[in-house]
Amino acid sequence: MSIEAIKTVAVLGAGTMGNGIAHVFARSGYKVILRDVEQRFLDRGLETIGKNLDREIEKGRLAQAEKGTALARLQPVTDMAAIAAADFVVEAVPEKIAIKRAVLAEADGILRPNVILASNTSSIAMTTLAALTKRPDRFVGMHFMNPVPVMVLVEVIRALQTSEVTFSMTMELAARLGKTPVAVNDAPGFVSNRVLMPLINEAVYCVLEGVATPQAVDAVMKLGMNHPMGPLELADFIGLDVCVDIMHVLHEGLGDPKYRACPLLKKYVAAGWLGRKSGRGFYSYAK
Ligand code: NAD
Repeated sequence: MSIEAIKTVAVLGAGTMGNGIAHVFARSGYKVILRDVEQRFLDRGLETIGKNLDREIEKGRLAQAEKGTALARLQPVTDMAAIAAADFVVEAVPEKIAIKRAVLAEADGILRPNVILASNTSSIAMTTLAALTKRPDRFVGMHFMNPVPVMVLVEVIRALQTSEVTFSMTMELAARLGKTPVAVNDAPGFVSNRVLMPLINEAVYCVLEGVATPQAVDAVMKLGMNHPMGPLELADFIGLDVCVDIMHVLHEGLGDPKYRACPLLKKYVAAGWLGRKSGRGFYSYAK
């Protein structure tokens, strides 16, 4: 299949990442079949897309009339059979291997043989996911960043089995969304989390050891290194439970003790202090 033949994209999962991915495809002229398991998740996803399109209008990046055009390109579905019309698929279902396995098997059986299946997983090995399908050479990682409509990077990850055609087509597709694709080989945490998570983890060690307060650690990184957010602010935004899970993936996958999750990070998670989403992490978000 040529890149021009890709007109309809299916996005599996309408959560945080799925609705953002659907947003950028629809905004770039693609028809999008957005699939989730229940109508209420689709409704929530579509509501978020509407709000995020409004935000783009407010910033002068989108004409008012284009909002309706983009929304009209979205086809929300709960029936997986509807994805048969897709020319390219991105899965953004929860980060649980059992869910990924079931969804990939189902999609694999429905899609035309030449259709590329991409995963937005942030920590499961692409090579493992590719092996779960009957199209391992047409399987690839397409790792968008949160929030998807705003962040420019897409890590395009080559599983061991990914063909050159699949890889280059996915790089080109990401570019057509106005993103900057970066080529990465499959390895634990890819590049983004391999570099970011140890940085966050080290910032937590600084707090644990009394080197500095969270505010001071973040100030050093923002003012001294020009990071737009401090590592602890960012950890609260990502979710401290997600940070611990990714550290475990790095530790297990790379086998080096330098990747062990900081005990303070684990303690916060045990307390239910997960960051923004729970109202408390390194900072307080009480309303
Ligand atoms: P989420 O929980 O917000 O959304 C997942 C959605 O998938 C939910 O709406 C759920 O109902 C739906 N779902 C469950 N089973 C399904 C099925 N069988 N078919 C279709 N939809 C189904 O999760 P998320 O944060 O959007 O993460 C999705 C993926 O993106 C994960 O692999 C995650 O690792 C990755 N990711 C997340 C982030 C992030 O910052 N949140 C960043 C990069 C990558």
